[in-house]
Amino acid sequence: MCFCQPVARMNETKKQYALNIRSSGLGVICGIAVILTAGAILAPHPARAAQHNAKKRLLVVTVTKGFRHGSIPMAEQTIEELGKKTGEWDTDFVRTDDDMKTKMTGEALKHYEAVVFANTTGDLPLPEPQAFYDYIKAGHGFAAMHSGSDTLHGKDGKVSDYGEMLGGEFETHHQRTTIMPTIEDPNNPATRPLIAAGNNPPATPPSQQDLESGHSYVSGKTWTVYDEIYILKNNDRTKVHVLLSVDQYPNDGSPMANKPGNHLVSWTKSYGKGRVFYTILGHTPDDPVNGKGMWTDPLYQAHIRGGLEFVLGLKKGSTKLSAPAP
Ligand SMILES: [Zn+2]
Repeated sequence: MCFCQPVARMNETKKQYALNIRSSGLGVICGIAVILTAGAILAPHPARAAQHNAKKRLLVVTVTKGFRHGSIPMAEQTIEELGKKTGEWDTDFVRTDDDMKTKMTGEALKHYEAVVFANTTGDLPLPEPQAFYDYIKAGHGFAAMHSGSDTLHGKDGKVSDYGEMLGGEFETHHQRTTIMPTIEDPNNPATRPLIAAGNNPPATPPSQQDLESGHSYVSGKTWTVYDEIYILKNNDRTKVHVLLSVDQYPNDGSPMANKPGNHLVSWTKSYGKGRVFYTILGHTPDDPVNGKGMWTDPLYQAHIRGGLEFVLGLKKGSTKLSAPAP
């Protein structure tokens, strides 16, 4: 508050004319003070401005050298829109080999806080592979969805540098199916929204048709979700921090269906000083324009939004190595 407020009251009597003169002067000074104070409030404080403008920069890679998922356009759109809606990140894309050549050198990667492999496949032509891994190790973020694990495979039975960073490698999949992963860590940004949903489960679970068109649901700590479910190799739960897992082989029509076994669905891990997030989910929809599936599912979107917030360093999450399966 300004001390010039009494001026108005003093204006009420002629006797105080002289005072008014002084007060008016004071008023001018006060007015200036108000302007200056307001200016001080409106002018961005350097530190505050830096914080406010610290929108992260995310590089989304959708180049494929193997199978190309129909959901890629939707994946690109969803990640970009999540960044816009939250105001948390700006999205740039690597869609072609040429994009990769120019945006993924060690030097060019410095423009981004994290890289996402959204349904990439095969032997991507990384221009400077070691510089890419060093960039993540130096404290940046890396996230991958679904066939991000069907990318840059190891050769001759060896785990590639990429597989080492990611913590798992695609081995196979069969028919699409419903799985019910358990949320092992309820406190990661990628699982907190699921836990919140699980506290208010739907009175009537969605029909199979709804489930298949992107209406998953959570009850307690169990997420019921329909997608193409990957079986991974070189995926040791004691070398990652498990977020979601199932305790049996998916009911996918294979001879192994429903057999007991611990299969990971999503995890985080450290890579040097960097942060890694992966989810096997994200195959559907097949129709890149009107289809419904994982990428249109609000719970899946909340799951990957949290994963991206984690790798971008916007929200904290544990990377403590998980215990062996019971
Ligand atoms: Zn797939």
